[in-house]
Amino acid sequence: MKAGKLFSMLAELGRVSDERGRLTRTFLSPAMRRANALVGGWMKEAGLVVREDAVGNLIGRVEGADPKAKTLLLGSHLDTVRDAGRFDGPLGVLLPIMALGELKRRGIALPFSVEVIGFSEEEGVRFASAYLGSEGYTGRLKARTLALRDDAGVSVREVLKKFGGGKFSLPKPAHRRGDLLGYVEVHIEQGPVLEKAKLAVGVVSAIAGQSRFKLTWTGQAGHAGTTPMDLRRDALAGAAEFVTGVEMIARRTPGLVATVGALTVAPGAANVIPGEVVHTLDVRHARDAVRRAALMQLGRLATCIARERGLRRRWQRTQENRAVACSPSLTAQLARSVQAVQGRSLSLVSGAGHDGVVMAALTPVAMLFVRCREGLSHHPDEHASPGDLGVALRVMVDFLQRMAQQDAQ
Ligand SMILES: [Zn+2]
Repeated sequence: MKAGKLFSMLAELGRVSDERGRLTRTFLSPAMRRANALVGGWMKEAGLVVREDAVGNLIGRVEGADPKAKTLLLGSHLDTVRDAGRFDGPLGVLLPIMALGELKRRGIALPFSVEVIGFSEEEGVRFASAYLGSEGYTGRLKARTLALRDDAGVSVREVLKKFGGGKFSLPKPAHRRGDLLGYVEVHIEQGPVLEKAKLAVGVVSAIAGQSRFKLTWTGQAGHAGTTPMDLRRDALAGAAEFVTGVEMIARRTPGLVATVGALTVAPGAANVIPGEVVHTLDVRHARDAVRRAALMQLGRLATCIARERGLRRRWQRTQENRAVACSPSLTAQLARSVQAVQGRSLSLVSGAGHDGVVMAALTPVAMLFVRCREGLSHHPDEHASPGDLGVALRVMVDFLQRMAQQDAQ
C-alpha cells in the first residue's frame, strides 16, 4: 500500500486557498467551499455517500453490512491557520478515505457503518473561536458563539444563515451516543517526540488540559539614572523572576509544560525603570489535578515575589480547557495495529487541542499521531514523508479490520 497518492492529494488540496501564494482556508470561505467539493469527489470515488451539514462539515458515509450496526467516526478539520502547512487537519480526512477505498478494492465490507468527517472549522481563525465544526456536529454550538463577528463584522449566525439558503436553526447532535463506536482522528504530531524516537506513528493517551492567563505586574516607573537600586519597584525584574520560576516549576513537574510567550513593558524606554509589565502564561498537562497543583504553586510564587519587591500583581484567566483522556479500549486497539505495522507502539500526550476535545463529549475518542519534520507545524514547511503516511495508512486499514473482527465476536 503506497501513500504516494495520499501525498499528492494533500498537495492538491493544499493549493485550495483564500489567499494567493499561501495556504489559508477559514470557516465557510470560498476556498472552504472548493475544498469540500474536491474532497467530496474523492469520498465518492472511495464509495462514500456524501453530504454537508448545517455548519458546513463535509460528511462521507459507508453503511455497515449489518443494518443495525453502530457507526465509527473518523475525521479531522479542513480549515487552516493563515499561511498554513498542508498536513494539519486534511491528513485526518484524506487518510481514512484512502483506507476505505483500499478495503473496497480488497472486497472487504465492514460490519459497522463509517462516517468520515471533514470539520469546517477547528483553528479559530475567522471568529477567534475554535471548534465551530465539531461543536455544530455534536449539537454543542452556543448562542454566545453565534453572536461572534469576523473582521468584516459578519456574525457566525449570519454566515450560517446565508450558507443554509436563508434558514438557520441550531444544529442538533448528528448521532445519539449509543449509536456510535467512537471517534478516531489521525493528525500530524506538531511536536518533536516521534522524530526523536525514530518512529513514524504513535498513539495518543490524552489531550492535555490547558489554562491561559494574562498577568499584570505593577511597580513604580522612575528615572534609570537617579533612582537608587534599593528604592526601586521594578515590574520587569519581578516578572523576570516569575518567568524563570515558571520554567523551573515546569521542569520539576513531569509532563508539565508552561510558557510565557508574550510580554509587554511600560513605559518601555532605555532610561526608565519599568512601571508595568503584562504577560501571558500558558500551562498544560495531561492530568487536570497536576495542572491545578502547578497553578497553585505558581500563584504562591507570584505572591511571594510581589511581596518582596513591593509590586502589585493581577491574574486574569483567559482560557481553561480540561484534559481529555483517550478511550482505553479504542486506544489499545489502535496500539495493537501500530505494533503490528511498525513493530513498536509509543504512547504520547497531545499538547495541542484537537477536534477530539469536543467529540469526547459525544463518544469515546482515540488519536494516531504521525511524525512531522522537526515538529514544525502551522507553517508552509510543515512536512510528513510519504513513507510515514504509508505506515499511518496501513495502521488505519489494520485498525478497521481489527474493529470488524471484534464486532463479529
Ligand atoms: Zn489540526
